[in-house]
Amino acid sequence: MPVYEYFCRKCKEPFTEIMSVKQHDEQVPKCPRCQQAKEVEKRIAAVHTVTTKKWLTY
Ligand SMILES: [Zn+2]
Repeated sequence: MPVYEYFCRKCKEPFTEIMSVKQHDEQVPKCPRCQQAKEVEKRIAAVHTVTTKKWLTY
C-alpha cells in the first residue's frame, strides 16, 4: 500500500500513514501526537518539487 504524507497544523508536525487509495480518499488519519484529525491535512506524497518550507508557511 502507498505511504501518504500528512501534516498536523496543531502540532506543526508532519507524519506518514500507510493506507489504501480508497482509505486515503475517504478518511483523514489521526495525528499520532495529539490524536485528533480535524487539524490534519493531506500533503502530496513523494513529490520532490514541493519543499517542506512551502508547506510550512501558514
Ligand atoms: Zn497533532
